[in-house]
Amino acid sequence: MNECIKEMEHYAEANNVPIIEKDSIEFINKYIKLNDVKTVLEIGTAIGYSAIMMAKEKKDLEIVTIERDDKRYREAIKNIKQCELDDQIEVVFNDALDANLAGYKFDLIFIDGAKSSYIKYFDKFRYYLNDNGAIITDNLAFHGLVENKDLIESKNVQGLVNKIENYIEYLKENEEFITKFFDIGDGLSVSYKTSNENIQGIN
Ligand code: SAH
Ligand code: MG
Repeated sequence: MNECIKEMEHYAEANNVPIIEKDSIEFINKYIKLNDVKTVLEIGTAIGYSAIMMAKEKKDLEIVTIERDDKRYREAIKNIKQCELDDQIEVVFNDALDANLAGYKFDLIFIDGAKSSYIKYFDKFRYYLNDNGAIITDNLAFHGLVENKDLIESKNVQGLVNKIENYIEYLKENEEFITKFFDIGDGLSVSYKTSNENIQGIN
């Protein structure tokens, strides 16, 4: 298992694939354990790293993860087999915004796809959330650029930072969900329904 994870970390580094930061995955795994999460939907598999890091920590956890890039999808399938977690992780090759998951419900939804579509993912997938579930979103700090705008060099990046700011505003104003923001890793948030009073691990 450790070997298989190390290999992925090297591949990610060498091929410029973004993977979740150590502190963030630790936070998520703690959340998963404390709340006895059994089902996860992940938007943005990349090469399967975050899904594998979650699945290996809890044997009764089932993950559906969506990836739209063909090369990364194939790399993820390979890695998940190699780590012997294909009984826990199902990878869907599709654009998350086109994927039909009718009939599925999840305890945790992890949003980690294109930063420009965060609001769209939230709006679509909130209906796939169990009442006592939560939506965790990654990369809300966008490598520190959301707080340090003078570091932004291109219009493209400026556009993405604006999108993330809009998403943060959208979460703050959402009346059906309470959102807590954490300065962990590249910044993440936990959103849960106002009716969910028993949520653990976010204080
Ligand atoms: N969760 C991964 C990192 C994901 S990086 C980890 O921490 O290990 C983001 C990935 O989302 C990229 O591979 C990108 O191809 C994919 N992606 C972006 N937008 C998407 C969409 N709309 N549907 C499916 N995958 C998407
Ligand atoms: Mg991420």
